[in-house]
Amino acid sequence: MMPFLSNMADVVHANEPLSPHTYFGLGGAARWFARPQSMEQLREILGQCRDENIRSYVLGLGANLLVDDDGVDGVVVRLNSPAFRRMEWELEANPPRVTAAGGVDLNRLILDAVRQGLGGLECMAGIPGTLGGAIRMNAGGRFGQIADVVREIVVVDIDGRERTMSAAEVGFRYRGSNLNNLLVCQATLELRPEDPAELRRRYMEIWDYKKRTQPLAYPSAGCVFRNPPGHSAGQLIDRAGMKGRTIGGAMVALEHANFIVAKEGATARDVLALIALVRREVAERFGVELELELEIWSSRHARSEELVAGASGGGF
Ligand SMILES: Cc1cc2nc3c(=O)[nH]c(=O)nc-3n(C[C@H](O)[C@H](O)[C@H](O)COP(=O)(O)OP(=O)(O)OC[C@H]3O[C@@H](n4cnc5c(N)ncnc54)[C@H](O)[C@@H]3O)c2cc1C
Repeated sequence: MMPFLSNMADVVHANEPLSPHTYFGLGGAARWFARPQSMEQLREILGQCRDENIRSYVLGLGANLLVDDDGVDGVVVRLNSPAFRRMEWELEANPPRVTAAGGVDLNRLILDAVRQGLGGLECMAGIPGTLGGAIRMNAGGRFGQIADVVREIVVVDIDGRERTMSAAEVGFRYRGSNLNNLLVCQATLELRPEDPAELRRRYMEIWDYKKRTQPLAYPSAGCVFRNPPGHSAGQLIDRAGMKGRTIGGAMVALEHANFIVAKEGATARDVLALIALVRREVAERFGVELELELEIWSSRHARSEELVAGASGGGF
């Protein structure tokens, strides 16, 4: 039998360090790292993973991700070739639409929409990531979320089967969706014509707000925990006296207690240990179990999930 992925040598590399591919800049290597150039190659990679029972993971910009120090024992797929960064604008449609591939940079898309006087995406100004990652996470915040503009998406499942899903089928919820085992390769978004000057002003205002309220001096992956119903995770962590708490090089940010930042020398295990400590303190003081928003990829699944109960483990 043909050795695993040996026919894909030009787009698959072994032992690729993942830290440069994530915002945290932490963690070990992927056993295999694949950059498919087409849907056919993507299907072939997923098919071989299924046949060999090897776990596959899809990586966006790594802006909501912590990779464990031991790395990932599977295939990490990165959708950044031109085939997965296409954008097609339909300005005359009613409402105007854009159909974009899953690997498109979200901020590129937002800027292009703002420049063309199309509203609906500017509420996500300053949120790093790809379109696929934003849809999987239902990225957003106090100004709006991606679910508000998604009309339909095209996904590929573990068997390499392509399927179109309506926004209702995606099951968008607060910072999440039902897309755990599905890879987003394309999405159609419906936007609305707006006065370009007013749109630009709102975009800048939201960007400024983010810069003022988020710790940007050190690497992080945004909010670590989802807000529990009726509470702000950041406020609970702050009230538990955790701001500035440090384990190794990981620190609960001073500007926003729901961010953990990676200072010099930090390891993924420092971050995992600090997450576990924060959860324990908040549970003991307020009886609230914080649920992770951050995704954690680890080759020692069971143990990392024990460490920080609620970790997704990722992959499919
Ligand atoms: C400084 C900073 C500020 C942030 N602020 C916000 C904020 O205000 N609001 C907010 O919602 N988030 C915020 N985040 C988190 C992050 O930007 C979002 O979660 C973003 O959507 C992650 O996209 P990504 O492409 O980097 O996904 P990744 O981090 O690469 O992956 C996240 C998850 O999405 C999956 N995924 C990636 N691509 C695809 C795809 N094509 N198909 C299916 N699944 C996929 C991955 O497998 C993984 O499970 C912030 C992060 C940082 C670093």
